[in-house]
Order: sequence, then structure tokens, then C-alpha cells
Amino acid sequence: MKRIGVLTSGGDAPGMNPAIRSIVRKAIYHGLEVYGIYQGYSGLISGNIKQLEVGSVGDIIHRGGTMLYSARCEEFKTEEGQKKGIEQLHKFGIEGLVVIGGDGSFRGAVKLSEQGIPTIGVPGTIDNDIPGTDFTIGFDTALNTVIDAIDKIRDTATSHERPFIIEVMGRDAGDLALWAGLADGAESILIPERPEDIDGVIERIYHGHKRGKKHSIIIVAEGVGSAAHVANEIKKKADLDTRVTVLGHIQRGGSPTAFDRVLASRLGAKAVDLLIDGKAGKMVGIQNNQVVYHDILDVLTKKHYIDNELIELVKELSI
Ligand code: ADP
Repeated sequence: MKRIGVLTSGGDAPGMNPAIRSIVRKAIYHGLEVYGIYQGYSGLISGNIKQLEVGSVGDIIHRGGTMLYSARCEEFKTEEGQKKGIEQLHKFGIEGLVVIGGDGSFRGAVKLSEQGIPTIGVPGTIDNDIPGTDFTIGFDTALNTVIDAIDKIRDTATSHERPFIIEVMGRDAGDLALWAGLADGAESILIPERPEDIDGVIERIYHGHKRGKKHSIIIVAEGVGSAAHVANEIKKKADLDTRVTVLGHIQRGGSPTAFDRVLASRLGAKAVDLLIDGKAGKMVGIQNNQVVYHDILDVLTKKHYIDNELIELVKELSI
């Protein structure tokens, strides 16, 4: 293999830049040429492709977002779209590809591998919802952003002695809400995997009041329904006033944490090693602090499980 490509796809995540840097530099270190494919699969189809040198990825290790831009591309889900993408790869002489993204992006990576372009997936998503890796790139940064925001909300919640409901990202996975709940001492967390009923949430608010607690933090993952809906339900059922904060896209931005930079550097480098070894259709990950890899097809057929011990711990510690 002489020339490889790299693209970022789907939802962006802080840490994608250090992953790109690692892939580019590791490949050049091993004598390969690297091409950056801009705007995900959409740029692959249109041929928005440029060679990346060592200096092209300078000064990005600490930046959020992705220098290659990301995109969602319906056309790439079709055979026709994939054919166009493969033609571009042939045109540029790109023999292998690294795709940084989430499970949707990995489906595209499988299609490319099946059609003769060895492709390796690097898990980059703030949701931490990919089986086969303990952490995805971006989760730690997003978690720290959420915690920073909740710490601030906590100050005002105490001053006003009101329950606050905070909506965090996570359509299908509650990891961000759960970890934030544990790290920030939330009274209740509502996550897609285990939505607690509103009565339970109200009970916890009352319980807190009784022991003189000045505030109450309720974290809602967006997959459960909106924080506004939870606030309405609490008002209807218990006539309690709450305040709602939707954290939104700030959760995707910001300088990647040291953890995410190290993870991105390790996983990106491993992806290049796998391509050099002739592997295709694999996803790199981290398990028990060891860099591992799995068949993407296995990853896509498995379910991401939430850590039930952590759910119990949140409850035990918020008495
Ligand atoms: P994420 O990678 O963050 O899960 P998406 O689910 O939006 O994000 O997927 C990103 C892109 O991956 C899609 O816009 C599409 O171009 C590509 N993709 C998703 N599913 C498939 C599929 N079944 N076949 C080919 N490409 C796909």
C-alpha cells in the first residue's frame, strides 16, 4: 500500500483533529502518502480530495471540530453513490481508507471494504455508543463540557433553591447523561436505556427538600424526550416550578481533553498499522486500556450496553 485516504463523517466530535493528525503522521512515518477527503462521503463522491503533508496537520491537535469537515450524505447509501466514491479513490490512486465517525459512517466503511477498498473505522462520537470500545473519541471532552455547565447551573440552582432540569445530547445512548450525573451529583437521570418515571423524579425532589437540600439537578438525555416536557410533567403532577437548560451544540465543540487527544492519537495510529498489515473492514477501539480491533460487521450487529452499576451508584450517592 502506497497511498491512503482519511475522512471524517457524521456527527463531529472533539478529538477528530488529533485523530487526523495521528493518521497522517503515522502513515508518512511509514513511507505512505496520505490524502484528505473533505466533507465526508459527500466529498468522496465529488472528489474534494487533497494530499496532506506533515505540516498540513500542524497546530490542530488542540482544536475542536474537524479540519476535514464532516457531512451527512444520503447519496453514499446507494450503490450508485458508492460507485462514484470508489471511482474517485481509483482516480487519486488511494488504496486504503480510514473513516473517523460513528456507526452510520461505519456502514459506509463496510460497503467500501466489500467493494475492494480496505477501510478501517475509528470511533469518533460524543455519544460513546459504539460496541467494542470502552470509549469513543469526543466523549470525554463533551462530558467535561457538560460538567462545567452543570457546575455553573448548580451555583444558581442553590441561590434560587429550585430544581434544574438539564438536557444533554444522546438520542439512543445515555452515557453522557449517566457519567455527567455521577460526576455532578445529579438527583435523577433520565436516559433512553432506563427512563425513570416522573413520579420517581418528584419523590427525589421532595426527599431532598426534607433533608434541607437547596437544589436538585435532573439530567435528561434528549432520547428520552425534552427537558421542557419533563418540566411540564413535574408542574402538572406536583405543582413544582423548575428551570430548564438545553445544553445543545456546545457539547460538540471545544478543545479536546488530554484523554481524547491521547485516545485519538493511539486509535489513529493503529488504524494505519492495520491498513499496512492488509486488514480491511475493522474498527479500532480501546478496551481495558489496550488498543484492540474488531470486525466492523460484528460491531454493527452488537448492542451498546449502559453500565448498570453506574446507574445504581448515581442513585446510591444521591440520597
Ligand atoms: P454517524 O457516523 O455519526 O453515526 P450518520 O448515521 O449520519 O452519522 O452517518 C454518516 C454518513 O455515513 C451518512 O450520511 C452516509 O453518508 C453514511 N452512511 C450511513 N449509513 C450508510 C449505509 N447503510 N451505507 C452506506 N453509507 C452509509
